[in-house]
Amino acid sequence: MTETAKALTPEHIACPEDSAAIPAERATIFEERKDQIHRVGDGDFAMACNRDSLAGAVSQRACVFCGSRVVLYPIADALHLVHGPIGCAAYTWDIRGALSSGPELHRLSFSTDLQELDVVFGGEKKLAKALDELIPRYEPKAAFVYSTCIVGLIGDDLAAVCKAASARHGIPVIPVQSEGFKGNKREGYLAACKAMRTLVGTGETADISKLSVNIMGDFNLAGETWIIKDYLNRMGIEVVAGITGDGRVDDLKRAHGAALNLVQCSGSTQDLAKMMREDFGIPFLRVSWIGIEDVAESLYAVAEHFELTQPELAAGMVERTALLVRDELATLMPQLKEFRRDLEGKKAAVYVGGSFKAFSLVKAFRHLGMEVVIVGSQTGTEDDYRELAAICAPGTIVVDDANPLELSAFLKEKDVDIFVGGVKERPIAFKLGVGFCDHNHERKIALEGFVGMLNFAKEVHASVMSPIWQFVPRRESQNRPIEEA
Ligand code: SF4
Repeated sequence: MTETAKALTPEHIACPEDSAAIPAERATIFEERKDQIHRVGDGDFAMACNRDSLAGAVSQRACVFCGSRVVLYPIADALHLVHGPIGCAAYTWDIRGALSSGPELHRLSFSTDLQELDVVFGGEKKLAKALDELIPRYEPKAAFVYSTCIVGLIGDDLAAVCKAASARHGIPVIPVQSEGFKGNKREGYLAACKAMRTLVGTGETADISKLSVNIMGDFNLAGETWIIKDYLNRMGIEVVAGITGDGRVDDLKRAHGAALNLVQCSGSTQDLAKMMREDFGIPFLRVSWIGIEDVAESLYAVAEHFELTQPELAAGMVERTALLVRDELATLMPQLKEFRRDLEGKKAAVYVGGSFKAFSLVKAFRHLGMEVVIVGSQTGTEDDYRELAAICAPGTIVVDDANPLELSAFLKEKDVDIFVGGVKERPIAFKLGVGFCDHNHERKIALEGFVGMLNFAKEVHASVMSPIWQFVPRRESQNRPIEEA
């Protein structure tokens, strides 16, 4: 018997109470992962996180390469070339619903399609040839070349090939050191930030306002960056670069001219914000554009920052922000009330990539009268989980780097009405007959900003109140059909 199989035997299960007294589905936790799961109210805890996924546990996490690919993908006028086997490129092809207001080169996926012979003799020549073919054909503003597992194993000198290609073609050709096996998804974020840092600081900044920001960690899914940009513009603030939502190479080059960085999704771009603070003295604020309180608080924080640092130029900005928030809420709140009438008392599970989203979703569900009973993320930190536990009700399961086995067991145990996650969580929900809301890469509906909260409420309501759920075996056996919509 393998170690993994052993871990599933009853003597290896880890549960807080006597296992004889708990439902069978709760007894599905690997012994090695018990310090990555916490039930709110079970005393103090120190969540073990940001460590490599347990081998054999089939983590929901993506690899390092995928981590960097999702961050850089929305840069729409760059060439994205995956140096590796075709599967790595296929896995991440058009991976986000990130919209562009101009070029759409990012939606094409290119690969060097490494084969056995390349593994034996090296893939550098093939990579150089691919760049020589693609750059003249597509005329990108820059090229990102991603390293994958196999490239890390055979030791191709990505940096040297990129440097030579850059000299030949006169554009930045940037190696992304994202060998899939070298860590967890956060390593991929760091690789992406290092790649972007090579562009920042190389553009002209003379015409940039002192009241200016970069929107970081937002990827313009379904046009969300545009919603936030509109709010900021209404407050009197210039947006220099979307990093990387609706991203452009030239914007990245002049991003160091912005007066402030607004960092959402701390995992994905906070490293770049830190580098820019160190190298250019640009401060950053952590923000969230999801939910009501978090959007409002983020906008107020930006306004207060500028009123403090640029009192003359920014005079009246907090007042303008208050008007903006008041106008938006006047439209939103009456509509939310309607949805709340049906949703009051329903239960939700949340498992997302970044923990910032989990915080905002817990609060957003409260506005719908719903309680989050399971909450987790792929890349949260110990502080994040402590804060999450503090805002959740006793009994809520808090989990880091979960796997399908655990998530299925938790969903059944808590009998949730809706599961919020991404593409890899969707089949888990549907197989169990649980409503699902996609809050990740592939969605086509904007869920950020005040308008996003309304879209979220509509989406949750449509899924939770669907009459289909009364026919799933789980509900039938409980003889507890849900009310008709
Ligand atoms: S980089 Fe490695 S882990 Fe990632 S998709 Fe490619 S082969 Fe798989």
